[in-house]
Amino acid sequence: MKIADHIEMLEIKVPMGEHEMVIHPVVIYADNQAVLFDTGVPGCYDKIIEQIDPAYPVQSVILTHDDLDHIGSFPQFLEAASGTLDVYTHAQNVGAINGTEPFSKANPERINSMLEQFPESIQKSFRSAFSTDTPENVNHVLQGNEVLPFGEGLQVIHTPGHTPGHTSFYDIASKTLIAADALIVENGELHGPNPSFTLDMEQATNSLRAFQKLPIEAIVCYHGGLFKGDIQQRLNELVNPS
Ligand SMILES: [Zn+2]
Repeated sequence: MKIADHIEMLEIKVPMGEHEMVIHPVVIYADNQAVLFDTGVPGCYDKIIEQIDPAYPVQSVILTHDDLDHIGSFPQFLEAASGTLDVYTHAQNVGAINGTEPFSKANPERINSMLEQFPESIQKSFRSAFSTDTPENVNHVLQGNEVLPFGEGLQVIHTPGHTPGHTSFYDIASKTLIAADALIVENGELHGPNPSFTLDMEQATNSLRAFQKLPIEAIVCYHGGLFKGDIQQRLNELVNPS
């Protein structure tokens, strides 16, 4: 779904046992390339590529945090770009994304049982990408508060809580907040992050205050999709629960 000419919300359906999970990576088209925010679970590469305008090669991947449903197909994007991928993530995610530190949440047992559902080739490239035996993956380390030169500018907003390195982004041209997992949409309503998957709920709620300073017209939540409407009033309710 196009949000504006240069920014698109994808809709990727992922089988989860008997159910289906729908996730929403975002693409910004800038300077003849596609900038992709998050990469789905393992095995999502083809589904994601299918939804991206083929005139724009995926030259940049921005990882909002190190959860498995966001980094899962990152190894395939890495392979497809044969060593030329620009990879952006917050300083606190760098160790996990480079494979030198454990992921914030998933322990090795959980990763093994998750990977077992996928073909051998996918397991192999996942283990190899997030390993100390292969070159570092991240070549653009974000601190929060900087503005990246995509479109009219992409504001980086460090929003710790869901994980320590969780980061959201604000596309200045379309006034779109790419919230990642800092917010979710459920039954058409905007909510704070899911407490069952959030490491520090108080910090996560506090992180929402950064959004109150921005003239946001649309929010894309990785889980739940697009939210429009009275955004500032809803943020106020979430930050100051009565
Ligand atoms: Zn997630």
